[in-house]
Amino acid sequence: MPELPEVETIARGLANAVDGKTIDSVTVLLPRVVSPEPKRFVADLTGDRIAAVGRRGKFVVFSLASGRQLVVHLRMTGRLIVQRAGATVPEPYTNVLLHFSDGTRLCFADVRTFGRMRLVGPEEPWAAEVGLEPLSGEFSLERFSGLLAGRTTPVKVFLLDQRRVAGIGNIYACEALWEARIRPTRPAGTLSMQARRRLHHSIRDVLRRAIEMRGTSVDDYVDAEGLRGGFQNVLSVYGRHGKECPRCARPIVRTVVAQRGTWWCRDCQKR
Ligand SMILES: [Zn+2]
Repeated sequence: MPELPEVETIARGLANAVDGKTIDSVTVLLPRVVSPEPKRFVADLTGDRIAAVGRRGKFVVFSLASGRQLVVHLRMTGRLIVQRAGATVPEPYTNVLLHFSDGTRLCFADVRTFGRMRLVGPEEPWAAEVGLEPLSGEFSLERFSGLLAGRTTPVKVFLLDQRRVAGIGNIYACEALWEARIRPTRPAGTLSMQARRRLHHSIRDVLRRAIEMRGTSVDDYVDAEGLRGGFQNVLSVYGRHGKECPRCARPIVRTVVAQRGTWWCRDCQKR
């Protein structure tokens, strides 16, 4: 599933490709992936213009000239692909098509159909449940520390909770905990101030480095231009069971924390 760096990369690519374009018409091929219901979805989108493309947590957000927002959750296998003018066959597994006035179009394709497109009104607080953006100024050490306080849940599970900190999934939770030398099962509220500082730093560091490398392609992730990311080549622990820890050279282990595969080093993640 794409996490913050992958969604950020996709949004940046889309911003280059569709900013300023006017939506001429909309085709919904799989009604259950859009909301509100298709008739209204199509009527409200038609004629609107894309004013900006951004990201909130793991959501791609198209801000429209009308003040509405088209919020896309890619989930497992969703993709947003821009096709050139004159394309006649949509991308395989396309569920929704936005046709622009210049003849280009955006395909929302998704093999497993878990991805969703939601059109929200200007005042609709759709992101009220989404936690702090880890790369924004609001993600201060004080606020992060405050969120951790009193939590008995394993710190890795805490990091995956989108209502606390937004955008971190399994890959970057494992990588940030390794970088901060923290055991994934450690109860979140018991981290020392030093450990909280290290983790706060490593979250931002790992996410920034991953964005620079256009994300991690471990499954079939490609960005809006169809390019693979590069961060899979520099992962320290994720998916590296049995391989050497880059810090202490002992083998990386894989355990299961809250039903998710978790890769870490028993030797240098003791705290
Ligand atoms: Zn190690």
